[in-house]
Amino acid sequence: MEYINILYQFIRGDLSNEYFEKYIYNDQLIESNIGNDLYQSLIEANFKNRNAVADIKNLINDFLLNNHPSKCKCCLIKNLDRSDFGTDFSENIFLHLKETKIKGEDYCWISLYECNVCHQAWLVAQDENYDVFYFMRLDNTQIQDIESNNWPIIFDNYNNLSIIVSTSSRFSKY
Ligand SMILES: [Zn+2]
Repeated sequence: MEYINILYQFIRGDLSNEYFEKYIYNDQLIESNIGNDLYQSLIEANFKNRNAVADIKNLINDFLLNNHPSKCKCCLIKNLDRSDFGTDFSENIFLHLKETKIKGEDYCWISLYECNVCHQAWLVAQDENYDVFYFMRLDNTQIQDIESNNWPIIFDNYNNLSIIVSTSSRFSKY
């Protein structure tokens, strides 16, 4: 079900419009996978127009909600993302994320989390000054490194967190 993963990557902002447009044109199975109506909308869309892309993302989001709903929110979190404390999105994310390891006293804002639905692991930093969570999606190599206490350094500078992940271009409704 690789195409579902690609659709989620596109709506959350991890794939460029150019890449996704090429994918729609070149993938032999996409029309039968997503149905003729949605396929036609995508083929006819102007991927260079910001509003058109927003409309497309709405259509794809509706399609995913109706046909491939996800129990957790990991598929809507960008590879590098931020989310304000107390928002619906943050609350939904943490329904299923469990803290499994803390980086240590010197880096008390950084933890390893794992989703108990899809088992995706996340490096999470909590910025108490601005009430923001920061997320980095981890691959297997990075998880193994963390297990041997070799942590990614991306969130180490507490005062720079907002510079590293300044905006969330995540699909805005979520
Ligand atoms: Zn998950």
